[in-house]
Amino acid sequence: MKNLSILGSTGSIGTNALAVVAQFTGQFKVQALTAKRNISKLARQIKEHKPQMAAVYDEEAAVALKKLLPPSMATQILYGEKGYQQAAELDATDMVLTAMVGAAGLVPTIQAIAAGKDIALANKETLVMAGGLVMQLAQTKKVKIIPVDSEHNAIYQCLMGQKRSEVTKLLITASGGPFIDTPANQLARVSPENALKHPNWQMGPKISIDSATLMNKGLEVIEAMHLFQVHMDQIQVVVHPQSIIHSMVAFQDGSILAQLGIPDMKTAIAFALSYPQRLPLRQPLPDFAELGHFSFKEPDMQKFSCLKLAMVSGRKGGTMPAVLNAANEIAVGAFLAGQVRFNSIAAIIETVMAHHQHQHEPTLSDILAADQWARQAAQELIDNH
Ligand code: MG
Repeated sequence: MKNLSILGSTGSIGTNALAVVAQFTGQFKVQALTAKRNISKLARQIKEHKPQMAAVYDEEAAVALKKLLPPSMATQILYGEKGYQQAAELDATDMVLTAMVGAAGLVPTIQAIAAGKDIALANKETLVMAGGLVMQLAQTKKVKIIPVDSEHNAIYQCLMGQKRSEVTKLLITASGGPFIDTPANQLARVSPENALKHPNWQMGPKISIDSATLMNKGLEVIEAMHLFQVHMDQIQVVVHPQSIIHSMVAFQDGSILAQLGIPDMKTAIAFALSYPQRLPLRQPLPDFAELGHFSFKEPDMQKFSCLKLAMVSGRKGGTMPAVLNAANEIAVGAFLAGQVRFNSIAAIIETVMAHHQHQHEPTLSDILAADQWARQAAQELIDNH
């Protein structure tokens, strides 16, 4: 029996994780759930999984959540940073699934690692913002970080039983998003509705927009650098619109190993939660005859300049990836709210990065300060737009 805390349980990853838990009763016990403000969904999850505790964003949400639960419910309801911290550090928990959206996932993930909990990592911002610090802490605390992001999960699987010193390249696949065939000069006119329509994966709004700009792939490259301790030059992004090959690893003898499957996050989630066992998930296999062919191409870095900006920030390191990430979160929010155009997202990030006073070896508080600065700088650009 593995005891779990699920941070961000009402999002797409959290919901899929609870579906896996429900499918394998007896293998997992949910000890803590956290959400931001989706209290009606969280209340349903609490009634089903009966965790020891749950935490929400603020007191108002906690009061509203309690009203949705029967008085006999033993689950302790907490809120705010303290509440999230308690869920991350809970004594009864063996593994913490970090599936909160965006930069908000960083601090609770660090708290969970510091408390010695194994991590099923779905929050990519954790490694983007503070990869060096986080990997070092995980090593000191002898904590396993099992990636849930499908690409990193694929690479993790390809590396099992292999010598890291024999790896020459990580090949990260990308679907290319909904605008892969849209001419560059039409990108200014695309609507949030168009951008939210991902061809292969069902995901939340933030990551769907990141997939449309290819920022998601850029963040994944930075995440992979830290997680697998490779240089940026050892990572290649390959556009593979069918999303069946989830990523590949090349070795010094010219062999390439790949992990394949249908595009359903449940496979990667179940792998991370049950590692080192594989659960009998009964996922359908890809129908290769029906698919007919796989295709590949190089990503267009001119058209999708968010990917290029992410690579630039990853090479620079220090506080720059946190700045890229924060500016992107604000710009994506403004695009979803109809305040800026699709191609302004990259322009806002580029301007904010250009004005940032870069720190090469930042502490956690330097990183959090850079994150706050970049949010303000991006917001000012949007307001004066
Ligand atoms: Mg991914």
